[in-house]
Amino acid sequence: MQKIEIVKHNATKRQIACKKCGSICNRHSKRKRKVAGLNFKMYEITFSIHYCLKCNKYFSSENVLLTGKGNRFTEAAQSKMVEAYEGRSLESVCIKMMKEHGIKISVSTLYDIIKRRAE
Ligand SMILES: [Zn+2]
Repeated sequence: MQKIEIVKHNATKRQIACKKCGSICNRHSKRKRKVAGLNFKMYEITFSIHYCLKCNKYFSSENVLLTGKGNRFTEAAQSKMVEAYEGRSLESVCIKMMKEHGIKISVSTLYDIIKRRAE
């Protein structure tokens, strides 16, 4: 089987405006997470956590265009899953994603993604 390529993506910011009040907030810390994408790619995303003094809230610099919040798969990969589900069983979509894209996904996770995106 094809090897998974790790693609590093830096989404950290030194300062970012609070989405709620617009105050400029400094970086508090950095975090990393992995997101599986199409074509045997695994994105390692580094993002920053910011703290708003005014709202007393933490928020992140994550690129939600690349992937939805907290998701383990890229937006493109999720669209592909939904597309592949047309006329197929969940099990066969899981096998297809593994074979064609190197994405490991369980039937229940796949079901959640399809359900969420159908809403
Ligand atoms: Zn704020």
